[in-house]
This record gives sequence, structure tokens and C-alpha cells, in this order.
Amino acid sequence: MRAQPPASHFIDGTYRHDDTAPARPDLYPYDGSVIAEIREATEAEIDAAFEAAVAAQKIWGAMAPVERGRVLRRAADLLRERNAALSELETLDTGKPIQETLVADAASGADALEFFGGIAATLNGEMIPLGEDWVYTRREPLGVCVGIGAWNYPIQIACWKAAPALAAGNAMIFKPSEETPLSALKLAEILIEAGAPPGVFNVVQGAGRVGAALVSDPRCAKVSLTGSVPTGRKVYAAAAEGIRHVTMELGGKSPLIVFEDADIENAVSAAINANFYSSGQICSNGTRVYVHKSIHDAFAERLVARVANARLGDPLDPETTIGPMVSETQRDKVLAMIEKGKSEGAALLCGGTSEGPFVAPMVFAGVTDGMSIARDEIFGPVLSLFSFEDEDEVVNRANNTDFGLAAGLFTRDLTRAHRVVARLQAGTCWINTYNLTPVESPFGGNKLSGVGRENARAALDHYTQTKSVYVCMGDTEAPF
Ligand code: NDP
Repeated sequence: MRAQPPASHFIDGTYRHDDTAPARPDLYPYDGSVIAEIREATEAEIDAAFEAAVAAQKIWGAMAPVERGRVLRRAADLLRERNAALSELETLDTGKPIQETLVADAASGADALEFFGGIAATLNGEMIPLGEDWVYTRREPLGVCVGIGAWNYPIQIACWKAAPALAAGNAMIFKPSEETPLSALKLAEILIEAGAPPGVFNVVQGAGRVGAALVSDPRCAKVSLTGSVPTGRKVYAAAAEGIRHVTMELGGKSPLIVFEDADIENAVSAAINANFYSSGQICSNGTRVYVHKSIHDAFAERLVARVANARLGDPLDPETTIGPMVSETQRDKVLAMIEKGKSEGAALLCGGTSEGPFVAPMVFAGVTDGMSIARDEIFGPVLSLFSFEDEDEVVNRANNTDFGLAAGLFTRDLTRAHRVVARLQAGTCWINTYNLTPVESPFGGNKLSGVGRENARAALDHYTQTKSVYVCMGDTEAPF
């Protein structure tokens, strides 16, 4: 097995697992070979993870923030030093092309650790004068935070959650998706090497059952989930039982609007990035592409011509631009949605065929707003083209969705760009580009796409609680 870790979980600074727990093969999506065998966490292991995290949080939370920051920045350096090996591991686990993982996964995780390491020491409270008396506020950690990840960006998701949580003095127990259990373990190793006390960042493996046990444990102070809306509903409800803090990074069905004055070649590039990167398995993808009627056909022609250049193949080959779907289950879901699109009358311009684990990048035209492919998240390489005539119409149609994760637009008209962006119901918007998510920019969804924000200073608000301290400088009066 090419990627077998020493054991399945990382608890209190060491690898461990119970040999009698059920095991699951971890597959390389490209050829179906077993790259590791991972055991599900038992109740005792979940308990051990909480015990370790509670104890470690006391030490970690009491450290000077600048020291915590130093540990996180060292971890960022280690991630960057090991980027090649981590990228290969991520490609083996997810099937994403190595040319993507080399720049977008551990690298983005390192950015998060560096950013939050850098600002850890700036997490100050306020001093509020009240005449002679005064109030000051302390930004205190929440305690033990649970992170639960999806399978599309495993190490990035682990870092986007761990970095702000740890910077603020929390400990974390992270459960990766059972499809992609490996790279979070490497992050746990690296944090120890960088100087984090054992137990500050723990990884436990397993399916939804393990996630549910983590979220409902009384020692869990907060949960941050990246996943689908149905899972989000369950996790949010479980967290509500204990009035726990939540961050929910859920699905999307985002619009990309191309106005008549857009640079067509750039807009086509954005549509490609917004639909086919990671074989379309990206939450913020702009899968509803609205193109002004006057340039619709020219846009469609260039898009189809450029999609023909996609190279499907071995994800470890640096020339490959489209890898397999993460699993047979995901491939079958995508193919079922493609069939639905065809049966509802959308015109297939290219792609959509499947060979083995691959789905060829596809473009549907003539899509109408009521079709399933226009409403439901597909999470595969399926782009839907719509035609529109005026600004008001397209804004209303773009917003006519239960989701609100992201949106993009292309125009050379500055005032229109900002006017339209202000009306779009989405957590992240792009003007004349798509899908760039630097750590400096808050990221998260509106409506069913989620609650809270990851990245940027905004993330720290979701990993701290404010304590107000009233300081009396005089005598205390009482009525009797
Ligand atoms: P799922 O919702 O199926 O799973 C997400 C995680 O939740 C997995 O680790 C899963 O475990 C776990 N889980 C499942 N049930 C429960 C439960 N009852 N309690 C606690 N945890 C549970 O999502 P996918 O992994 O299929 O990822 C795809 C989805 O993620 C898409 O909808 C996509 O849009 C969204 N996503 C959102 C992002 C964002 O930032 N907004 C970014 C990336 C993806 P397991 O699968 O191992 O059983």
C-alpha cells in the first residue's frame, strides 16, 4: 500500500488505532488500487481525543499568543518544504491532478497557518471608559473545537479550520472525510514537529457516525463543518442541542455573469476555472454561466473549442488537467444528473461521457432556470449555459437559488460591476476573475450555503468569545 500511515488516528501527539475496529480501504481514484487501510475510531478513541484536547487546550490557551503564532508559522514552513510529497499524497487520495495539488492544497494550507500565525498576537480586546469606572474585554478561546472535512480539499480544509482555531488558543479534533483520510494526519505530525503541545490537534477517522459522536460530546465547544447542505442541517441541529458555536461551509450553485462588453477570452478562462478545476468538485464553482444574448454563441463556440484541449489521464502525470472523480459513487451521481439534464431538454454541446472513473468536462446549452441541472448542486464537471438580455433580469435570475456561496461577473463597465456585485446574494464575489480564495479574504456562504466565515480576521471572531470585565474604581452602593 503506497500511502499507509503508521496508524489511523493521531491522538495526544501519537499515532494509534484499535486493531479490532472496522477497517476501510482507501483507494486511489485513478486505478482503484488500495493505498491505505484506515480503521474507524472507537468510542474509547473519541474519548481519548477529547481528554487529550481538553488537557492540551489549557496549556496552549495559556501560552503567549506570539508563541502560538511562532508554532503555526513553523508549521507553515514545514508544509511548504514538504509540498511535493504532500501534493503527491493528496493526488493519490483525491485523484486531483498533481499540477493542481502542487499549487492549491498544502500551499493554501501553509498560507492559512502563516497568516493566522502572524496575527495571533494581535488578538486584542477593547478598553471602554465609563468615567471613573471602565470595562475591558478579553478575546478568549472557546475550548475544544471539532473540525469536520469534505473530500475535495482535505489538507486545505484541515488547515483553514486548524489555523484560526489554534491561533486563538483552542484545541481541535479533526475528522477528515472517510474518502480522504490521509493528509490531515500529516498536518498533525507537522504541528507536533513545529512545537505544538501533544493533544492540541488530533485526528480521528470514520464516517458520519464518528462526526456525529464528536459534535454531540459535551466537551465540544464548537463545530466547523465543510460539507453538503443535508449534512450541515444534521450537524447544525446536533450542535444546537448543546448551544455550541458553528461554522458551516456548505454547498453552492453559483452564478457567473458575462455581460456584452466582457473580454470573451478571459471570461471563457474563468468559466473553465469555475467548472472544471478539480473535475468540478468545488463548492464555490460558477456552474450557472449567464451570457448576454449578443455574445452567447461566440462565447459557447470558444468555450467548446477550449474544453477540447482538456487532458484526461493519470493525475500523477504533470500534463494531466482533468483527473478522475473522487469515487464511483460521486461519478454515478454526476452521470445521473447529466441524464436528467438531457431528459429535461438541455442541449449537450460537448463532453459528459464517462470512461472508467472519469467524466469528460461537459457543457449544456439552452438551460432554463427551472431544470434540475440549474437548481441542484452537481459537484462534477458540468457547466450550464444560459442566455440573458438585461441587467435586472440576470441579477434576479442569479439570485433565484437557495444557495449563496459565490458569484462572479465579467464586464469592462466599472460602475456596472460594483452596482451588480452589491445586489448579488453571495458570500464571495469576483469581478473579472473566478475562484480565487486568498487567505486574506473572508470566505463563506449566505442562505443555505452556510453560516460564518473562514479565513481573514473574520475567522477569529468564530473561534473566540468575548469576556467583558467591569472594573469599579470607587465604592459600591446598595439600596439597603
Ligand atoms: P458530506 O456532507 O457528505 O460530508 C462532509 C463531512 O461530514 C464528511 O467528513 C462526513 O463524513 C461528515 N458527516 C456526514 N454525516 C455526518 C453527521 N451526521 N455528523 C457529523 N459529520 C457527518 O460532504 P462531502 O464530503 O460529500 O463533500 C461535498 C460537499 O461539501 C458539497 O456539497 C460541497 O459543496 C461541500 N463543500 C463546501 C465547501 C465550502 O467551503 N463551502 C468546500 C468544499 C466542499 P463521511 O463522508 O466520512 O461519512
